[in-house]
Amino acid sequence: MNPSSPSAAVGKRSRSEAAFQEARQVLPGGVNSPVRAFRSVGGNPVFMERASGAYIWDIDGNHYVDYVGTWGPAILGHAHPQVIKRIREVAEHGTSFGAPTLIETELARLVIDMVPSIEKVRFVNSGTEAVMSAIRLARAYTGRTKIIKFEGCYHGHSDYLLVKAGSGAATHGVPDSAGVPATTAAETLNARFNDLESVQMLCEANPGQIAGILIEPVAGNMGCVPPEPGFLEGLRKLATETGACLIFDEVMTGFRVAPGGAQQRYGVTPDITCLGKIIGGGLPVGAYGGKKDIMAQVAPEGPMYQAGTLSGNPLAMAAGLETLKLLQQPGVYEQLEKITHLLCREMGELLKQKGIPHYTTQVGSMMTLFFTENPVKNYQDVCTFDRDRFNRYFWGMLDNGVYLAPSQFEAAFVSLSHTDAEIQKTLEAAEQALR
Ligand SMILES: *Cc1c(COP(=O)(O)O)cnc(C)c1O
Repeated sequence: MNPSSPSAAVGKRSRSEAAFQEARQVLPGGVNSPVRAFRSVGGNPVFMERASGAYIWDIDGNHYVDYVGTWGPAILGHAHPQVIKRIREVAEHGTSFGAPTLIETELARLVIDMVPSIEKVRFVNSGTEAVMSAIRLARAYTGRTKIIKFEGCYHGHSDYLLVKAGSGAATHGVPDSAGVPATTAAETLNARFNDLESVQMLCEANPGQIAGILIEPVAGNMGCVPPEPGFLEGLRKLATETGACLIFDEVMTGFRVAPGGAQQRYGVTPDITCLGKIIGGGLPVGAYGGKKDIMAQVAPEGPMYQAGTLSGNPLAMAAGLETLKLLQQPGVYEQLEKITHLLCREMGELLKQKGIPHYTTQVGSMMTLFFTENPVKNYQDVCTFDRDRFNRYFWGMLDNGVYLAPSQFEAAFVSLSHTDAEIQKTLEAAEQALR
């Protein structure tokens, strides 16, 4: 299935250009999700046609080693034959019933098995929906309204989570997007990643009012930023002391940094967990779960309403189930870690040789190469990156057959289909891109 051409260099992208001009007539900005538009790197997006294993093909016939992995889900590589086979089989029987099916229970059991803190789970259709519902759940359970989140963490596009930091740690949030009421944003408080004191201050300033402390336990949406030792443990302690729910948004890290996500990798147990991306095996699935007494709030068992016409959709459940089963094979996570480490180390070497300031982060099969010499511990640190350098690197990689996320604020995802050969191609591309 791998491309036969030994050369990584790609040809022109004139069809993509034309397709983008067409798309702009009918879609805002030509896309259905903003970061796809390549605006931050100053150019137009590549239109894709198919993907297989570690590779993706554009509509001009160029192929690329893919590190976007559809933004996280493609941990097996694209179009795994067993996943596709299951989707086909299930589709033959109808694509949606709006009634309970056996496969929902089967996937729920597997999720509960794999993720340490989850005793019951509710399936939804996206990560956004999962986090939005988890917030409602924390509020229902605690009878409080305020949420602490962390600057640089992304939790989907629901109103009260589209908020960055205000000027001081103790100030109320200001909306990040037009259309978000200031009153909604005011319920969201911003702390600094890897800074327990900033969380403690917010807890003290809002006694008895914090419903939840919400975090990406390994940040992935400001590039990959790992938690420092003791940080997640400290959050657990603060949440317990203040009676707030600790909510891990593991939409990206779930089934990615360990079979049971970051909570397993770091041994810290949240009250509520949000899942997405990998759990749908490339189809739209999100989920939230936690202890039985918390999940007892959720309708129809409890008073917290949350519903979905296509939730638990059989096609999506089948793709997710098959993907999680394949991830349970022995050695999978060791392999992911090993190949990602190799890439990280070799890239680091290359940059060092070239005297280019950089800082690399890796957790499991998530990694980011930051074009800054400062250690990256939080959003402010990320913002010190060399924008010009990143843009040249991004386009250079693309022109040499490597598809990266078009932003320094994103992680690269390595899949089980990435082998030494793809790492080699990537390094050769980098050699060209960094000339
Ligand atoms: C992608 C992501 C989301 C949003 O998920 P969607 O499926 O895009 O709605 C939420 N939280 C985190 C941590 C994510 O990475």
